Amino acid sequence: MTDTALALERLRGGAPPRNHDARTIAALTANPGCARRGVMDAAGVDKDAVARALGFPAQFGQSQFAITRGNAFEAKVKADGCAELLTLLRDRLGLTVPEVSYADLEVVGGNEGRELRYTRTRRLLARALESGEGTLFDHPLLRLDIAGQPAYLEPDVIAFQLGGRFHVIEIKSFAVIDGQAEPDQVAAAARQSAVYVLALRRLVTELGAPADRVSHEVFLVCPENFSNRPTASLLDVRPQLAVLERQLARLTRVDRILETLPDDLTFAPGEALADAVRAVEARYAPECMSTCEMAFFCRDEARACGSTGALGRSVRDDLGGVESIGTALALADGTMEPTPDLAETAAQLRLAARLRREALDGAA
Ligand code: SF4
Repeated sequence: MTDTALALERLRGGAPPRNHDARTIAALTANPGCARRGVMDAAGVDKDAVARALGFPAQFGQSQFAITRGNAFEAKVKADGCAELLTLLRDRLGLTVPEVSYADLEVVGGNEGRELRYTRTRRLLARALESGEGTLFDHPLLRLDIAGQPAYLEPDVIAFQLGGRFHVIEIKSFAVIDGQAEPDQVAAAARQSAVYVLALRRLVTELGAPADRVSHEVFLVCPENFSNRPTASLLDVRPQLAVLERQLARLTRVDRILETLPDDLTFAPGEALADAVRAVEARYAPECMSTCEMAFFCRDEARACGSTGALGRSVRDDLGGVESIGTALALADGTMEPTPDLAETAAQLRLAARLRREALDGAA
């Protein structure tokens, strides 16, 4: 085990690492400058459990009803070796899918170990790339580098090989009504699918094949018109792929963050947990509320210390370099002399303060 891997295990307090899924990676790229999230996700820390232990439980995610309904729809589409899915691909999308084989990679000989599953995924996909054989690979376990650390991806998708190219098939439980689905849900599905496409592309290039053996066109399968009958459509995820690659490249390397942290830091439950979390710098922004399990804790912290980030990312960016609201106010009313690098920001703050005063005086 490398020093970094040992340090990440200590951060988890000996708990097994949590697998990433496409939602967590898509969300990670939403705040690439946050060291706290970067280090917790790279270590596979259960952020939901940490937030609960701190008294700030996350309040987002699907309802139990939606999860049960989604699972039932997926089971129906995949029943009998994906018979219904194949009918859909052949009849609705007019694809010629001649011979079909189906391999479920979720469990290997009763063993759910990630290394074993990843090795099997690699082996089967390598064989499929070479021979062109093999059609449906359900639950492939993939790996993607996050902040310099490999993270396992637990995809709930199918890798579908057709004419020597792989496509991701994503099954979602939101409805398509009269050919239209909720744009936000389609956008989220496209972002998540892009994570799988990228991870599959990384795998096929590791196996010596060109990246375009994995198509940027994803098959999205959803229930149709309030029924449980599936319908399929093609999603082009090239824009989402471009954003994802750029954001992942920007993520701070986790070994650099680790160098700045105390050697005995751990996120194990206990009295020192809150201090341990605070020891890693965060970059809270209101967008965290819909993307990160730690959001309530970080918002509380940002408010308590008067961070400009609590006012929104655009405010933080406009105030570039001014980290606290108190400093911004002091620069605005002239009670603080700006350093040379903050001179321009300070001049803008003073101008804004003067305009505000004049507007208020005029109103009075
Ligand atoms: S909620 Fe906290 S840990 Fe999560 S991304 Fe935002 S600042 Fe970082």
